Amino acid sequence: MISVEEALAKVAAHSENHVRRRKSVPLQEALYSVLAQTVYAPIALPPFKQSAMDGYAIHRHDQLTYQLVGEIKAGDPFDLILKPGEACRIFTGAGVPETANAVVIQEQVYREQGQIRLQKTPELGQNIRTIGEQLNPGTLVFEQGAFLNPPALGLLQSLGLSNVEVYSKPRISVLITGNELEPPGKPLGPGKIYESNSLVLQMVLRQMGITTIQMNRIKDNAYATRKALEKALAQSDLVLVSGGISVGDFDFVGQALHEIGVEEIFYKVKQKPGKPLFFGKFQQTYLFALPGNPASTLNCFYVYVYPLLEALMGKTKRGLLRIQQPIAKEFENNSGRALFLKASIKNNVVSLLTGQASSMIKAFAAANALVYIPSEKKTVTQNEWVETLLLPYGISN
Ligand code: AMP
Ligand code: MG
Repeated sequence: MISVEEALAKVAAHSENHVRRRKSVPLQEALYSVLAQTVYAPIALPPFKQSAMDGYAIHRHDQLTYQLVGEIKAGDPFDLILKPGEACRIFTGAGVPETANAVVIQEQVYREQGQIRLQKTPELGQNIRTIGEQLNPGTLVFEQGAFLNPPALGLLQSLGLSNVEVYSKPRISVLITGNELEPPGKPLGPGKIYESNSLVLQMVLRQMGITTIQMNRIKDNAYATRKALEKALAQSDLVLVSGGISVGDFDFVGQALHEIGVEEIFYKVKQKPGKPLFFGKFQQTYLFALPGNPASTLNCFYVYVYPLLEALMGKTKRGLLRIQQPIAKEFENNSGRALFLKASIKNNVVSLLTGQASSMIKAFAAANALVYIPSEKKTVTQNEWVETLLLPYGISN
């Protein structure tokens, strides 16, 4: 059995040394991918002098009255030449004539046949977006390693790009073990429960932007377990197994991994929940066997699988954000193991939730953070600062 710190260090070491595949994809397929290229602006943004408002473009002179000589709508050519004292009607996003040097908003303009009158002399350049005010051609837009969120893709598209080079996202297989597990939608037989880890794992993967997921359910028997593992290892970058890794007579995962020859990186971590966690590698494929209790599965996912997945995606930032927070109430740790506790941060104070057993998923649903208590830490006093891992769905709940 190894410590949490040792286990995390092993995950981190493997995160550094893996081969990343890259591919060119249309922007529509690049969401939540990591850029494998550096992008420089091919054009200026904006590409021409634009009106930022609906109003009148003017060529300033020393009076407040201007002759109206034309109209330019968004999308129109704008080769009109305004002489000093001339104005044209203009709208947001329209090209501002070369010789115009201010746009006055329509609310501040009095219009009468063929003329406009202003209330005061406008500032030079007011309400005009200059060429390249956001980006000039050739300037850096994104470094390699940038994470492509929706506005990042919008920026690339507004530069006229249609494809982008990204790291291929990892292909994941999820194997769900357990004879007691039934899908929802029918009454439960004796000794059965509804299976939930497949859904949770699929959702957290999807939340990370990973959509290539092979889901497979297997019965607790040696042959089925081995066959399913062989197939998953052959076709994936990462295999996640739920359940069957403990020491019960019907836990067949450990035996199957051994028979297949999966290299054990670690097995069993001095922690609660999730002690019988297994991390291994077979050829280029990584494998986590996650203890099946729902809170253990998700806890191990967030603490160990998440940083490895981020690395496989090509991210340089890895793992949940860790912050220090004062704890609302004192707490005793008599387990002799490190603890990850479902918690809620409100007003910069972190409170532990009730229902911390590894079989319970309810507290996780209310949590926005995990409090980490090291194994050697026996007592935590009220207001003491504790290490807190932020769950990736914000701290609003
Ligand atoms: P195991 O890790 O297979 O020994 O399972 C530990 C506990 O978690 C048992 O009570 C299982 O019934 C439960 N469990 C295992 N897998 C799942 C699952 N996919 N969904 C819900 N509960 C599960
Ligand atoms: Mg089981």
